[in-house]
Amino acid sequence: MRYEDRTPDDGVNTPGRHPLREFLRLALMAVIAVVVLGFLLSVLGGRLGGLVPYKAELWLADRIDTAAQKAGQESPFKQEIVNPELQSYLQTVADRVAAALGIEQSMTVTLHYSDEDVVNAFATIGGHVYFFKGLLSLLPHENALAMLVAHEYSHVTLRHPVKGLGGGLALAIGTSAVGLSSENGLFSLGTRLTSTGFSRSMETQADQSALAAVYKMYGHVNGAAALFELFMQQRERGAGTQFEKFVSTHPLDKERIDQINELARENGWLDIGDLTPLPNEYRSWLQQ
Ligand SMILES: [Zn+2]
Repeated sequence: MRYEDRTPDDGVNTPGRHPLREFLRLALMAVIAVVVLGFLLSVLGGRLGGLVPYKAELWLADRIDTAAQKAGQESPFKQEIVNPELQSYLQTVADRVAAALGIEQSMTVTLHYSDEDVVNAFATIGGHVYFFKGLLSLLPHENALAMLVAHEYSHVTLRHPVKGLGGGLALAIGTSAVGLSSENGLFSLGTRLTSTGFSRSMETQADQSALAAVYKMYGHVNGAAALFELFMQQRERGAGTQFEKFVSTHPLDKERIDQINELARENGWLDIGDLTPLPNEYRSWLQQ
């Protein structure tokens, strides 16, 4: 047998296809891979979040609290009483909402009031729910307040904060449990949690749960949809930047109001009925 050096064919290092076409094909595959991976992570993340026990959420909030104190910072989870009369009234309404929602004793929900003139309300991990003076000042009656409180409390009962954060929160609890996360890291996590937005479907679920609670409380749902109609009017009037925060976390449109009305119709919940006024002192409490 003889061996001989043979020159390779000319095209051995170049594929038959146009190089740019090959590049485009690979780029497209990469984009598809990123999209699929992102989708899987978000689905899996949400699932993971839902598996986190409520107790772990409370525990993490507690850790953030301690971290903030150690850093000499104000904890985002410390309940401050800045307006005793107003806060005691809000708590009374919230307790009735909690009962209507069937919230168990073990699921601690903490109501926070901020006298900032911001039109906003939100719920975050550890059952911490925040209401701002700017938004409370707009409410026309107790029914709208009850709907608002029930909506935010529903985010807690439906575990939306932890599901929204998904894997990120599971990771934070994990690293914190084994002492991997720094006090500073925990504190910055705490401040980031106060601006969590929820998905559109989470908002719809919270609306549905809230409407059922309001029906239980008043025997009708009059005034509940009015909450969102009021928001829309505000927006059309161009209520300015202070309104944008709420809109950015709570998509508002006709569709949302239609959904609420549709749900009431389906369940045969009356949308007429006497509206319960806010206490006479409500406006003056807000002035404090
Ligand atoms: Zn919401």
